[in-house]
Amino acid sequence: MAPFEFCRPESLAEAIAMLDPHDPDIRPVGGGTAVIQMMKAGVLRPTRLVFLDRVEAKHAQISVDAQGQLHVGGLTRLSALEHSAIVKQGWPVLARVLIALSNVRVRNVATIGGSLAHGDPHMDLPPVLSALGAKVVISGPAGDREVKVEDLYLGYYDTVLAHNELISKVIVPAQGARAAAYSKVTTRSHHDWPALGLAAVLSTNAQGQLDTVSLVLAAATDRPTRLVKAENMLRGSHAEDRLLQEAGALAADELDIVGDMHGSADYKKQLLRTYLGRTVKQALSLAEGGAQ
Ligand SMILES: Cc1cc2nc3c(=O)[nH]c(=O)nc-3n(C[C@H](O)[C@H](O)[C@H](O)COP(=O)(O)OP(=O)(O)OC[C@H]3O[C@@H](n4cnc5c(N)ncnc54)[C@H](O)[C@@H]3O)c2cc1C
Repeated sequence: MAPFEFCRPESLAEAIAMLDPHDPDIRPVGGGTAVIQMMKAGVLRPTRLVFLDRVEAKHAQISVDAQGQLHVGGLTRLSALEHSAIVKQGWPVLARVLIALSNVRVRNVATIGGSLAHGDPHMDLPPVLSALGAKVVISGPAGDREVKVEDLYLGYYDTVLAHNELISKVIVPAQGARAAAYSKVTTRSHHDWPALGLAAVLSTNAQGQLDTVSLVLAAATDRPTRLVKAENMLRGSHAEDRLLQEAGALAADELDIVGDMHGSADYKKQLLRTYLGRTVKQALSLAEGGAQ
């Protein structure tokens, strides 16, 4: 392994100053769970690693603001999020996703910032946070900017982050009365990488019709992808079985689905046809107090 510099700044500003907008071999490190894998695989040969574990503790805090939005510091460990009473109470869909996201050893060190910045389209949090309408606060030398999670990704391992920008916070609107579910379809153990991930966040009106519909697909396209045509088809409906089947077929036809080691493109299309309806129904059932 080529030698590299190892830095442990004590503030976010100091960390940003140690990064270089023109050099992808100088990397920030949250938990390092993905960075180490990339180094072992030889796809990353860093010249400098900037560990973020000593920056101000406020960047690893979980709180709720006056509008009921969840604020999660970018350096918050996934296990802290998983065990947070605030999250369990107000964002149960996140708590459910986290217990099947990799294993406890990874969750104990991985951070939410690293989870969102990595840009692997198989990851579980981006589709769920995107469907919930979350945004990230991105900190750089010129200050902070906010980007919707939905707009964070450009393609495989590619985000709108500059090489000297850090995800310092994630802000998630209240889940409130919205129905929400995430289907993680795996071919091996339940916490393994998904062959397909599908997040559904829905609200219904007084007549029981779907009012807002957000469906986000992962692990089948080069980035988390909104199923816009299926959303439009379902909005205003009572989520009847036939319509859910049609929406699943429409989504499978509309997208350029790509195969990988977890399944062929045809297999993933079939999963999408099946799981779109299942995920919507599971969300509605959970909102009515169905089995967790
Ligand atoms: C065995 C194993 C199984 C896994 N299974 C799953 C799974 O089922 N589902 C799933 O979703 N994930 C899975 N993962 C991936 C895991 O979720 C990620 O490795 C982890 O979330 C990355 O977080 P981290 O803090 O360790 O990131 P790091 O490894 O520290 O960083 C990842 C990337 O983000 C950059 N980065 C880090 N922090 C920031 C920041 N604050 N701002 C900007 N850029 C930053 C780094 O430079 C790097 O490019 C698995 C990982 C392993 C090792």
